[in-house]
Amino acid sequence: MTSPAPDPLPVARTVAELKQLRPEFGGETVAFVPTMGALHEGHRSLFRLAAKHADRVVASIFVNPLQFGPGEDYARYPRVIDHDLKACAQEGVDLVFVPSVSDLYPPGRQVLVDAGQMGTVLEGAVRPGHFNGVLTVVLKLFNLVRPDVAIFGEKDAQQLACIKRMVSDLNVTVDIIGAPIVRETDGLALSSRNRFLSSAERRSALALSASLRAGARHSDVADVLEAARAHLAQTELDDPSFRLDYVDLVHPSSFSPVPSDHVGEAILAVAARVGSTRLIDNVTVQLTRPGSDGSAVAAGRQQPA
Ligand code: AMP
Repeated sequence: MTSPAPDPLPVARTVAELKQLRPEFGGETVAFVPTMGALHEGHRSLFRLAAKHADRVVASIFVNPLQFGPGEDYARYPRVIDHDLKACAQEGVDLVFVPSVSDLYPPGRQVLVDAGQMGTVLEGAVRPGHFNGVLTVVLKLFNLVRPDVAIFGEKDAQQLACIKRMVSDLNVTVDIIGAPIVRETDGLALSSRNRFLSSAERRSALALSASLRAGARHSDVADVLEAARAHLAQTELDDPSFRLDYVDLVHPSSFSPVPSDHVGEAILAVAARVGSTRLIDNVTVQLTRPGSDGSAVAAGRQQPA
């Protein structure tokens, strides 16, 4: 006997279609994975983790204009919906939500979620308003999908921290789970934007993960930052198209810079432009030694490498 053909992947292309399809899950639990598409192994790892946490997995694919600033890459962000739907089907996703911009943001909207202070540092300093745009779309998607659990990658560590803060501050009834960063074997964190890198740019892009590894070998704030900055400074010298936006050590939940004598967990976060492509990466480090030279650290922060 031949096995029956698998059901086609249900796709909701409008809010109305989602409202029709979502009730079919009845009382089953739902894990949600929001994405902007151009799906890669990192996204797939989130789908697999989602399946471990609930009966059903819902994914969304939506390039959210609200989280892109003027002059950023909204227009050229990769849109490969056929490839993405195939990936969702292969990973056993139960429902994909692919709304249009006009459906999700009808004219007349005014209210935004404000990420507060933690949305204004690091990524938020370089991309003003970015986290307000992220939180606004994530809260809208939560309200539409009504998940029990939502999965976000640690690749976007500040985004994950802002979402956890929003869920706590606004009493949103969803559990947020972080998923580890998926990397190429040479260390490059997978990103939908990696496809824009030429082979020379890709070599320079390795400086992000390499600088994090260099920093993570140390155990106090000053040494971690010095090692990471030295690596990035060398790359800037070697490749003028490589421009560092920031590298810093921050608290995992508030994303404010840790003091020079910090002991315990911290996130070493880096962002840089390679040619016309902007990349971010981070690693969690365990600081076991209180820093010995706080003034050097403070001075270094005013003039990042
Ligand atoms: P994006 O499509 O870039 O908005 O990402 C959708 C989700 O996938 C976010 O929660 C990201 O943090 C996560 N993600 C992106 N790249 C990776 C990666 N290399 N490893 C793990 N998660 C990732």
